[in-house]
Amino acid sequence: MNTPALTIAQASCADDYDPNSMPVAKARAFIHQFLAPIEGTVRVPIRSALGRVLAADVLSPVDVPSHRNSAMDGWAMRGADLKADGESTLVEIGSSFAGKPFGGRVGDGQCVRIMTGGVVPEGADTVIMQERAKASGKSITFSGGNRTGQNVREAGEDLKRGSVALKKGRIVRPAELGLVASLGIGEVAVHRRLRVAFFSTGDELKSVGSTLGEGEIYDSNRYTLHGMLTRLGCEILDMGVVRDDPQLLEAAFREAAAHADVVITSGGVSVGEADFVKAMLDRLGEVVFWKIAMKPGRPLAYGRIGPAHFFGLPGNPVSVMVTFYQFVRDALLVLSGADPVAPVPTFRAVCSAKLRKAPGRTEFQRGTLSRAPDGSLTVKPTGEQGSGILKSMSDANCFIILDDATGNVEAGTTVEVQLLEGIV
Ligand code: AMP
Ligand code: MG
Repeated sequence: MNTPALTIAQASCADDYDPNSMPVAKARAFIHQFLAPIEGTVRVPIRSALGRVLAADVLSPVDVPSHRNSAMDGWAMRGADLKADGESTLVEIGSSFAGKPFGGRVGDGQCVRIMTGGVVPEGADTVIMQERAKASGKSITFSGGNRTGQNVREAGEDLKRGSVALKKGRIVRPAELGLVASLGIGEVAVHRRLRVAFFSTGDELKSVGSTLGEGEIYDSNRYTLHGMLTRLGCEILDMGVVRDDPQLLEAAFREAAAHADVVITSGGVSVGEADFVKAMLDRLGEVVFWKIAMKPGRPLAYGRIGPAHFFGLPGNPVSVMVTFYQFVRDALLVLSGADPVAPVPTFRAVCSAKLRKAPGRTEFQRGTLSRAPDGSLTVKPTGEQGSGILKSMSDANCFIILDDATGNVEAGTTVEVQLLEGIV
């Protein structure tokens, strides 16, 4: 584990540190200096490794491919028997099909019928595809213009025995399952799942299944968090709703930190509410409270409670999702052992509508990206963009990211977008 050089308190004393106007990139970088992969690995059968993070390099126990084989359906021969230009006629002496190799040796003037994946017989070094040959009984005539060695895949060409097939830190996707299986390996070492405890804070919150009193609302943040954390492969501990009561909150924080690697809360970090939470967390650990220069998702807290990492997300439902995607996702992947953790890619699309935007902060508006009839990418915002309007997220398939310098955007302007599918 790489221990951070600074404590959170020391890092927050840097000259350019302003908790009241924290740029998105700076907040991300601040958090990242305190992250190191969790300890603990398990061996699992390969199918169960889907979505998990490899905890050790996977070495290839074999050459891949294991034999020199043909890349084409055709005939195998010695390249030296082929005329440089003009036709060559050779005698077919047998066949080499996938799984049924030719046992003999190919000599002067001879060739062997071969199918894709068939072992290239001893003596042969070249394959000509069947479209460039004419067979008359066992006499096969090949057109000219061939090169010795063509259409032959050498043993070990894809992977040499003992070499690294997959590096530790790789997240296992369907392609990796197949690759591991192709090496004859049935089990791999993966990091244990990251344990994440979360709860919602607020006196106004009720859980699904209860009746709402006046001024009360249903807690939706625990459900979006459940979805995002599950998709990231975390082991989750849903601690329900905790009322805005210092004693109850302190007990909840203590319990969460005792059982999890990461504690996530929503609500209670905005101005006015933050004060007593801050005082309590200062007793339990080290926490910084920020106003991020972004919309939605202005208030955000990050810190440590004992060994657990803490993310205090805003209460508004859209803010929860945006701050999770922009700060928590990458952090959880690093803690889970993933390496490298690539930021979610962004690309450019033409915005078909006018957007209102104030300079001085990064905005993550919700949009739908589609192809215009001319084939270009076009994006439009999903209606009302209030930070409490979850429908703006649900209707969206991307964020429209407008950086600090950007002001109002005219229709027809090229903007940066980030797809939501695949983020978690
Ligand atoms: P807060 O940050 O606690 O001041 O909350 C900001 C807004 O988000 C308020 O309107 C809250 O009612 C709302 N809110 C907070 N937590 C949740 C939640 N878990 N589910 C839905 N809305 C919430
Ligand atoms: Mg609240």
